[in-house]
Amino acid sequence: MLTPICPICGGEVVEKNVEKIVKGGNDVAILRVKAGVCEKCGERFYTKEVHKKIEEIRSELKQRTLELFKPIGRTYAYEHVIA
Ligand SMILES: [Zn+2]
Repeated sequence: MLTPICPICGGEVVEKNVEKIVKGGNDVAILRVKAGVCEKCGERFYTKEVHKKIEEIRSELKQRTLELFKPIGRTYAYEHVIA
């Protein structure tokens, strides 16, 4: 169950499907995740179950158990620090 009120700013939290980027080792995956999103400050909240699943997927990615992942492009690391 998600909190209806944002604990950071007091704004209204609504349920949305959002994109979440996870890194496992050198690999990156984009997940579609159900989250509570604060309409005011944009903070995202996940249920315990969703949080646990995200961590499971992260470790699958790290171990390269890739049956459920579909390649969609390449990821590059830019050579320099942006400052
Ligand atoms: Zn907020």
